[in-house]
Amino acid sequence: MGGGAAGLMAALAAAEEGAEVLVLEGQERPARKLRITGKGRCNVTNDCAPEDVLKNVTRNARFLNSAIRAFPPAETMAFFEGLGVPLKTERGNRVFPVSDKAGDVADALVSAVEQRGRILRLRAGEILTEGGAVAGVRGGDTAVECRSLILCTGGLSYPKTGSTGDGYAMARTLGHSVTAPTPSLVPLTSPDGDCAAMQGLSLRNVTLTLREAGGKKVWSELGEMQFAHFGLTGPLVLSASAHMEAGKRYLAEIDLKPGLTEEKLDGRLLRMFAENRNRDFRNSLDDLLPRSLIPVIVRRSGIPPETKVHDITRPQRLGLLALLKRFPVEIDGLRPIEEAVITRGGVNVKEVDPKTMASRLVPGLFFAGEILDLDAYTGGFNLQIAWSTGRAAGKAAAAYAERKRNMKNIQVAIDGPGGAGKSTMARALAKECGLNYVDTGAMYRAIGLAVLRAGLDPADAVGVPELLPSLDLGIRYIGGEQRMFLGQEDVTPLIRTPEVSAAASAVSAQPPVRAFLLKTQQDLAEECSVVMDGRDIGTVVLPHAHLKIFLTATAEERARRRFLELQERGTPQPYEQVLREMNERDERDTKRAAAPLRAAEDAVLLDTTELTPEEVLAKLRQLVRERREE
Ligand SMILES: Cc1cc2nc3c(=O)[nH]c(=O)nc-3n(C[C@H](O)[C@H](O)[C@H](O)COP(=O)(O)OP(=O)(O)OC[C@H]3O[C@@H](n4cnc5c(N)ncnc54)[C@H](O)[C@@H]3O)c2cc1C
Repeated sequence: MGGGAAGLMAALAAAEEGAEVLVLEGQERPARKLRITGKGRCNVTNDCAPEDVLKNVTRNARFLNSAIRAFPPAETMAFFEGLGVPLKTERGNRVFPVSDKAGDVADALVSAVEQRGRILRLRAGEILTEGGAVAGVRGGDTAVECRSLILCTGGLSYPKTGSTGDGYAMARTLGHSVTAPTPSLVPLTSPDGDCAAMQGLSLRNVTLTLREAGGKKVWSELGEMQFAHFGLTGPLVLSASAHMEAGKRYLAEIDLKPGLTEEKLDGRLLRMFAENRNRDFRNSLDDLLPRSLIPVIVRRSGIPPETKVHDITRPQRLGLLALLKRFPVEIDGLRPIEEAVITRGGVNVKEVDPKTMASRLVPGLFFAGEILDLDAYTGGFNLQIAWSTGRAAGKAAAAYAERKRNMKNIQVAIDGPGGAGKSTMARALAKECGLNYVDTGAMYRAIGLAVLRAGLDPADAVGVPELLPSLDLGIRYIGGEQRMFLGQEDVTPLIRTPEVSAAASAVSAQPPVRAFLLKTQQDLAEECSVVMDGRDIGTVVLPHAHLKIFLTATAEERARRRFLELQERGTPQPYEQVLREMNERDERDTKRAAAPLRAAEDAVLLDTTELTPEEVLAKLRQLVRERREE
């Protein structure tokens, strides 16, 4: 889920392992963020050793150790060259496409994925599970089944590119903890009005030093920065933000002349003053500073602007010198996350396996990219995180899907007298063991609907059987939920009306309909793991079921349960009456001609008279586990 840098890389890695791959991307165009990276040039990676990548990771570097070593920058470069994107390395080992076009990197990835798999435009909203394991994804009215899922929906920055943080909520719903997302690599805000006065001014080759409120140096680097109406921005400033904690105040000190020591700069000032000795101070700095900076420096120096240069005192000159070497800008915060290059925070890496990126909580779920609580400095390191984690997740998700595909189907048949709790237990067991609960009633309902649509009387003993061969009745399991299809149409929401119920009841009395569905149910059980409950599942429908259970309880106990149930529903009946009816039903069910109630010879008899529902479920679970191990 998510066709960004991590998702596309993961898809390719999975496809290389032979997996059938589908990328779900919420935006019309995949990889929108990738297309604007590196100011439209895409700093693909940093050409350095794995250890150096890890040194540039500001959050959870240790977690990344295996993934980065398994797919280091050298592999990233070979990979993109292999996709037909020639690369070049610039200052600071930053790697870019020779074309200087981020679009080339994105297009190469997208077309490689389209050759080996499929990209579906779908904004996913929910991860579906079955028996606690990933089973599919739903977005709007569309549901997609899958054996494994890689969640790579990115962070919260630049939301217009599609990264709106959807994955965080989905991960949380499945029990993952998410460290609160905050901005990183983000411009800084300042209450200092001088920033607005100098907005647009870009300073190259300056040193920015970040200090905590008490004066302690936090970070310092040489580079480029800009003043903006809100404060400071530019590459140096973004890097500085990675060292800041939200909510704290800082002081940024700009060394405007980092190439000169204080002594050398003083010598330069003395020379300059000698050359301009009869000019006003405010007109003497043109050779030293950019024009929009001069009025600010003059004011902050405390030297009256009209002072003749030859009248400037030594303390005044040393004050100016200090200002040029340590121009202070108060910092009171970070710009909003929407403007950040990177989101700090995300899915807690303690809940993720560092080698495979597999969730430690949900079988079949994997993570990659910025959704994880990982971030790094600028220089191509963040994309390298996306490539390495995407690679690891893609390979592991493919292997998991293959294992799941090979897992043997198991058929579980639960029979027993009325009131023994068969269907409640069958549904609960399906959920816990990742099996599909076959709702035979829904099958009859779908046929009832088709009969009504064909304008037939559901009791028509000629017309209905004639219609059956033309029915394209489909059953799919999405998130453990049985959905009924007629052709391509999902009719599940349409089969619960009173009209369809009546039709279903009438068609179910027709032996040809029962025979038709028997075949459908048997075919279904061949295809996937199922649990079915009824009167004749182990004897007639699935005579070769791997596990047959005859769930029963004394008539008195079943009558007691029914009595309580009716009371709870607000339709109480005397216990004696309930018991009498229960006995009559048992008698009828055992003696009926079609599908009489009897336990299959090889069924496990489970008497629930003395058991709580939890104890019954635990026993059933145990039986399924044992049979699977066999
Ligand atoms: C302006 C800018 C410049 C950058 N420049 C660089 C650079 O030069 N070098 C570098 O290393 N890093 C750079 N980065 C950081 C880099 O872009 C990210 O680290 C990287 O894109 C993260 O990849 P990702 O696949 O995890 O997330 P993303 O690239 O954000 O991809 C997530 C994808 O998931 C999709 N998605 C989200 N929710 C859903 C949903 N519910 N259903 C379906 N799809 C969904 C989104 O539409 C998106 O396509 C830059 C970031 C920005 C903002």
